[in-house]
Amino acid sequence: MYLYNSATHKKEEFKTHTPGRVEMYTCGPTVYHFAHIGNLRSYIMEDVLEKYLRFAGYDVNRVMNITDVGHLSSDADTGEDKMLKGAKRENKTVMDIAKFYTDAFFDDCRKLNIKTPDVVQPATGCIGEYIQIISKLVETGYAYLAGGNVYFDSSKLERYYIFNDHDEDDLAVGVREGVEEDSNKRNKNDFVLWFTKSKFEDQALKWDSPWGVGYPGWHIECSGISMKYNGEYLDLHCGGVDNAFPHHTNEIAQSESYLGHPWCPHWFHVHHLNDPAGKMSKSKGEFLTVSLLEEKGYDPLAYRWFCLQSHYRKTLVFSWENLDNAAAAYTKLLNRVAALKPEGDVDQAVFGEYREKFLQQVGNDLNTSMAVTAVFDALKAKTNDGTKLAIIGEFDKVLSMSLLEKAAALREKAAQAVQSGGGDYVVTGEGDPEIDAKVLARYEAKKAKNFAEADRIRDELKAQGIEVTDVKGGASWKRV
Ligand code: AMP
Ligand code: ZN
Repeated sequence: MYLYNSATHKKEEFKTHTPGRVEMYTCGPTVYHFAHIGNLRSYIMEDVLEKYLRFAGYDVNRVMNITDVGHLSSDADTGEDKMLKGAKRENKTVMDIAKFYTDAFFDDCRKLNIKTPDVVQPATGCIGEYIQIISKLVETGYAYLAGGNVYFDSSKLERYYIFNDHDEDDLAVGVREGVEEDSNKRNKNDFVLWFTKSKFEDQALKWDSPWGVGYPGWHIECSGISMKYNGEYLDLHCGGVDNAFPHHTNEIAQSESYLGHPWCPHWFHVHHLNDPAGKMSKSKGEFLTVSLLEEKGYDPLAYRWFCLQSHYRKTLVFSWENLDNAAAAYTKLLNRVAALKPEGDVDQAVFGEYREKFLQQVGNDLNTSMAVTAVFDALKAKTNDGTKLAIIGEFDKVLSMSLLEKAAALREKAAQAVQSGGGDYVVTGEGDPEIDAKVLARYEAKKAKNFAEADRIRDELKAQGIEVTDVKGGASWKRV
């Protein structure tokens, strides 16, 4: 696979420390609020990357943290504590907030077919590991104590900024305006490893440490959790583009200083989903969630489809119109897959040829829009329906759009409606489930007020020489 690497600023052949095995780490959510659909864009693209690597034959160990402590509202260690802010907002404890929003995050992931990583570790569960790393950094002179806190000394490094080809705007996220200077820091880029003195007197979670009772800074959790579950050599580190600086820069600084050798060669950053008014952000108050999409009648997978249509290294602009287009395209695709008859032996030569092409095309810097095109190409393949369905099912191991399941459900629904004669909408015709499914899909589209799709299906049926007549409680069709 060829993958862009933000650490070297170029597209490279992806290689791993141990051949055939990928140690992969993902920065998880800060669980003080619901995830917005921008956050979920990052998790969708990381999910596709993981699934592609498995599809390409790698054994993947994917680890993710849950930030339930230490993340202040400015990524540069100042501002409010995000978890405390959430707890105050809802009049609950920090632990309650963390549990509630962790569960909510995984509910959203399930709806979007995002696989749960092999290891999910809340930051509060690895305090011993952080203390061990920080102790060594203090011993070896990479960290110092000042004003009761422990800081990483960035001046000890030969090289600090390694992701600095990112947009000014993205870099500025870490150093937001209006944040007060921390006079304990010796250098501008130093960052907190352990707090014992913070302005948050009411900090709920504190642990004993060699430097006094306190809590870890935000960055140390990802180094500690990754080293615990991925080992000393990480192959691939993922996150949204705003994580690149200062979070990932600081992770590299502390991990390599601790380990004494290079830590992670490959960095994968997903660019942002913006709304037309600008950046999407949880701290802005109002934001778009998966639940809101559902309330408005969208299948969350239509949002996944929307994300897959564009490249992860391009900013994506959200609008309802764009989502409507993606939803219509997804419905149309499902109808086309439902129209395939699950019949005919799989032609292994055709299957292999399509699989190989998909592997090559998508393996070019995770080209998901090519993956989408590949599904349409498979529908048009010169082969039997059984082979087409096998190819689409294979591609869906990476895309995770539930193509076969949803298409089978559509087919089943149509068949049942015909047989039972007692459902809410009964289709009667000349006994062809493919046509029944289309007639039903037209009805479903009308019900969902997707008139363009309903008209498209009507025209398609017409072109096939099918005449549909609306009758009481359903529809009847015949060939003319
Ligand atoms: P947070 O919960 O704020 O720690 O963020 C969770 C993940 O979402 C991180 O990987 C962020 O980099 C990523 N992220 C934040 N905002 C966006 C956005 N607008 N679009 C895409 N990813 C984002
Ligand atoms: Zn992280």
